[in-house]
Amino acid sequence: MKKVPDKKGRFGVYGGMFAPETLMAVIEQLQDAYLTIGKSREFRKELAYYFKYYVGRPTALYYASDFSRYIGCKVYLKREDLAFTGAHKINNTIGQVLLAKKMGKTRVIAETGAGQHGVATATAAALLKLQCEVYMGEIDMQRQALNVYRMRLLGAKVTCVKSGSRTLKDAINEAMRDWISSFSNTHYVIGTVVGFHPFPVMVRDFQSIIGKEAKRQIIKAEKKLPDFLVACVGGGSNSIGLFFPFFRDKSVRFIGVEAAGKGIDTDYHSATLCKGRPGILHGNFSYVLQDKNGQIHPTYSISAGLDYPGIGPEHSYYKDIGRAEYYAVDDRQVLNAFHILSESEGIIPALESAHAVAYLIENKKRFKQDDIIIVCLSGRGDKDVNEVARIEGIPL
Ligand SMILES: *Cc1c(COP(=O)(O)O)cnc(C)c1O
Repeated sequence: MKKVPDKKGRFGVYGGMFAPETLMAVIEQLQDAYLTIGKSREFRKELAYYFKYYVGRPTALYYASDFSRYIGCKVYLKREDLAFTGAHKINNTIGQVLLAKKMGKTRVIAETGAGQHGVATATAAALLKLQCEVYMGEIDMQRQALNVYRMRLLGAKVTCVKSGSRTLKDAINEAMRDWISSFSNTHYVIGTVVGFHPFPVMVRDFQSIIGKEAKRQIIKAEKKLPDFLVACVGGGSNSIGLFFPFFRDKSVRFIGVEAAGKGIDTDYHSATLCKGRPGILHGNFSYVLQDKNGQIHPTYSISAGLDYPGIGPEHSYYKDIGRAEYYAVDDRQVLNAFHILSESEGIIPALESAHAVAYLIENKKRFKQDDIIIVCLSGRGDKDVNEVARIEGIPL
């Protein structure tokens, strides 16, 4: 069988390096650095140190007994919501910023939509003493004023992007423009398993700590592997981080859950794998939500973190080879899950993570009593409480 991914970062037909010519040198430098520095004992030891003492890893694998009764099988929650800053994104940003530092870079840049990745990058940059600039669309800055202030508190410069739709995709374009002229001293921290090679592989490897820990923890608790892994899918980093360490364990089934928004048959969703077609976006070939002329289709989700028209190429590959199944749940089902998990376990999930929880609730019948399921609780819901109250018409 062919090695996956190959040297160009291709997972089957997906992935690759569709990068501007001017960036090819820095991309090759990054790939070399990742394969040498990034794989070295010293680097891994230092990363493990920050994971343990700064992020608070390993995160718990919690047996959700009440929720399990409700679903009718054994449900464990991988508690990424307990990671420092409240979600899994920090696993990747500390990894990349540490690598950038070892490469001799003095500055990092990032794009952010809702601000979660920007805050995680600013946190890692403050920790490791690199300058940090975050590009954010003007509309997003207005919607997420608190996260803008958070980044500034952490010492980052937040730059307002006023072009195009003034949201995430314009922020990505602007960050890319910056990188083209600054790469000699700057690393671009991409927030999920997208972009050109080596980003999808590198981000997956940093997030794989989720699945590695979960495997050890479930074997300790149950003396066997789980039957299902379930995770929400935006760009695809928390899900691939959970899935990948189980790739060769053929009895373990993977379920990725996308955002059906206002409905999978409306124009308002972000279900890239369920409704998209292969195309090129942000440096790689993968499923993309596009119209019939190949223009990027606008996306929508109740959860900002899933609101992205692309998907990591490794997921497109898993879909085609049948290694993982992908479904979508809508906003109403997500809000229901948000309440049910809060009441049954005292755990308020991020709206993103509530998509994974909702899949279980909507498909209870699929699971047998002795099935063991691990759900990735990718983040905590504190950030979403205001928004849910607003949607439900509850004055605060
Ligand atoms: C950003 C985010 C996601 C979606 O990103 P992935 O790369 O698909 O993991 C999911 N959950 C939370 C809490 C997030 O902040």
